[in-house]
Amino acid sequence: MIPDIHHGTYAGALAHRRYGERPCEECRAAAARYMAQWRASNPELAKAAAARYRARQAADARAGKALRLARDTGRPQSPG
Ligand SMILES: [Zn+2]
Repeated sequence: MIPDIHHGTYAGALAHRRYGERPCEECRAAAARYMAQWRASNPELAKAAAARYRARQAADARAGKALRLARDTGRPQSPG
């Protein structure tokens, strides 16, 4: 654990990630509170960010499925 992290804060969570570690439970909880507050004060931005996240997840799922099919059948699959 890095000593100069202000644990239990959103900045602490960012510092953990900057040092390449998973945030500790206190920092993780603080970051979740911060993001919930941010979503509540920026509903339109949050909606757009959620839509981008879902689109990326769906694209990754399709890519993963194509990779699994290619591996299982030995043939490359067209995406989609
Ligand atoms: Zn921490």
